[in-house]
Amino acid sequence: MLVDFLIHNIGELLTCSGPAPKRGQTQGDVRAIAGAAIAAHRGRIVFVGTDAGVAKMVDVEAGATIVDARGGSVVPGFVDPHTHVVFAGDRQGELRRRLAGATYSEIAASGGGILATVAATRAASDADLAAATRPRLEAMLQCGTTTAEAKSGYGLSVDSELKMLRVVAQLGDQPIELAATFMGAHEIGPEWRTNRRGYLELLIDGMIPRVARDRLAEWCDVFCEPGAFTVDESREILRAAKASGLKPRIHAEEFAPGGGARLAAELGARSADHLVCLDDPSLKELAAAGVIATLLPIAAFYLKLGRFAPARRLIAAAVPVALATDVNPGAGLSPSMPFAISLACFAMNLTFEEALVASTINAACALDRQDRVGSLEVGKQMDAVLVAGPPIDLVRVGVDTIRTVVKRGQLVYAR
Ligand SMILES: [Zn+2]
Repeated sequence: MLVDFLIHNIGELLTCSGPAPKRGQTQGDVRAIAGAAIAAHRGRIVFVGTDAGVAKMVDVEAGATIVDARGGSVVPGFVDPHTHVVFAGDRQGELRRRLAGATYSEIAASGGGILATVAATRAASDADLAAATRPRLEAMLQCGTTTAEAKSGYGLSVDSELKMLRVVAQLGDQPIELAATFMGAHEIGPEWRTNRRGYLELLIDGMIPRVARDRLAEWCDVFCEPGAFTVDESREILRAAKASGLKPRIHAEEFAPGGGARLAAELGARSADHLVCLDDPSLKELAAAGVIATLLPIAAFYLKLGRFAPARRLIAAAVPVALATDVNPGAGLSPSMPFAISLACFAMNLTFEEALVASTINAACALDRQDRVGSLEVGKQMDAVLVAGPPIDLVRVGVDTIRTVVKRGQLVYAR
């Protein structure tokens, strides 16, 4: 078979192949090949196997990209299924105040917090917003992310929510492949503080039909949490979204148990995200409904929540677990899926293999892209990360362990 891309001399290749999402006993099923090679043609994988077998199996095209892994390891490109990466403005000053003891409400009262980002995002042009986002995507790529979700939710008006989603589409020129999520229900728009019903009607009658008509998003997300949107409001919004052809996902149980996970199960949402305060009855409903639990330990860490989602209990109940970074201007301060893996291992007691599956094939399932990305199998996209040493080196925060990142058979980052 003809190939135009080859990585050989791989010490260990973790394919994460097989039926997905992986749950319970199979959550850690990474399917390793020692002494491996992988080859692709026009961005699609055509060979995965042993280095010894590759020479007789493939016919390398003239001008092909050939990478000698020098005994390093290869894992699937990371999929980051929960980010708020598109925004304008900078809240670094707020961070220093928070570390000096200021509370979230004190910061919000002085014009900080999410509404500061809303003001800056509304004021930015499409081009400014795209330019502000590109370096963040570049940082994610350097950490091995080859597919990511990107939400709106800092516009909170028809025009600026549509603008955010147009920018996500425009960023399709970047190596990272993006899945767009409409999240006008991130917060009540500032003009609607005394008229919640008015904002709900704007979401349901004004924003969702426009987003669906212009095909600007694949998903609809709601911040279902005491103080944000109630379970009844979230249900109404997500049902309207579903009726318009947007698939539901949900922010649930981040700061308090509030019924968001149960709503995800009721609506058949693909993913329920955060789940830090998840109780056992809700956990059973997620399991029964087949909802993926997308956990964001980086957010719990930077918000100093003092606790993390019950990942071991989720795995024991056969809920498929995915990981994401939650890149955002407030507490999503790391673009690194390897950091999420480290926290999953050291703060949530996952095995390395379970955390790797959570960051690749299960994360692809959380974005409904499991047929194309998330594992290294014949027929899938050639999206991969080459680690200089053994794969477990990925948990060494602060060390440049990633040598090369591959997207669709192209070297998109090389150290
Ligand atoms: Zn979020």
